[in-house]
Amino acid sequence: MAATLMLGRPLAERIRAEVAEAVGQLGHVGLATVLVGDDPASQVYIRNKHEAAIAAGIDARDVRLPAETSEEDVLAEVEALVADDQIDAVLVQLPLPDQMDEERVLAAVDPIKDVDGFHPFNAGQLYLGRPTLVPATPLGIMELLDEHGVPLEGARAVVVGRSEIVGKPAAHLLLQANASVSICHSRTDDLAHYTRDADVLVVAVGRARVVGAEMVKPGATVVDVGINRTESGLVGDVDPAAVDVAGRLTPVPGGVGPMTIALLLRNAVRCAKYRRGDMVFPAR
Ligand code: NAP
Repeated sequence: MAATLMLGRPLAERIRAEVAEAVGQLGHVGLATVLVGDDPASQVYIRNKHEAAIAAGIDARDVRLPAETSEEDVLAEVEALVADDQIDAVLVQLPLPDQMDEERVLAAVDPIKDVDGFHPFNAGQLYLGRPTLVPATPLGIMELLDEHGVPLEGARAVVVGRSEIVGKPAAHLLLQANASVSICHSRTDDLAHYTRDADVLVVAVGRARVVGAEMVKPGATVVDVGINRTESGLVGDVDPAAVDVAGRLTPVPGGVGPMTIALLLRNAVRCAKYRRGDMVFPAR
């Protein structure tokens, strides 16, 4: 029997409607994005984020800087946004141009405005089991699992990929939900040994078919985070034939992708609530 598809769009739309309502109640939520350079994929991501933010009633500011901007000037721009009272949330679009120290720029975002959850303070909070501002994609994964009633307590969860943006935070959230978590990566010996054992398999690698159908445990829940542009269009990291083996599966496109933007907007609302004192931001 074919797997149940865990569709991101309907759930993302619901979350975006909730965000719009929260924005209405707050009166004003300001989100600023900073895009340095003209990377085509980043331009698309920024445009999509702005369209979604504006649709939710968020006051979105689009800061664009040429690729040759110095690191000091980017830092000055980020610091100005951090100091701006109208701005609740600041997002620096990655990747930054090669000459720039990404860690230094991300660290300049005040943790309370860190809508992407990439600041070391927020990453540390998550590590300590006190999620504060958490990256949007892993939050979206957890929402999809929750929506489909996927049991996590005591489940064997395997995360393939250990990036700061997806793999590591996803693993921490699964751990907090009391799954037993393994994290695999490019040096993992015998990846299939791990994936075949997974009740919940999250794949965030960026390589088409890195997980074949034969690597999936029958009945498992599979979250395919990968986005790969191929001649046959956008595909994920998991062989589509896994639909005949898994119990539940996220499609690509239309699975995790739409969730990421919805959860980013929810994070912007969270930043605004922290700043207004509606939610308590932890001591730093
Ligand atoms: P990343 O930073 O490049 O990390 C990829 C991870 O995969 C690394 O940890 C790497 O291991 C691991 N890896 C590489 N080859 C592997 C292999 N053969 N077997 C096992 N692990 C392997 O990528 P990312 O930012 O996490 O993104 C991953 C994918 O998700 C990309 O396709 C990206 O476009 C997509 N994505 C989608 C969304 C969305 O909203 N849908 C959001 C973010 C990302 P090492 O650490 O050892 O190098």
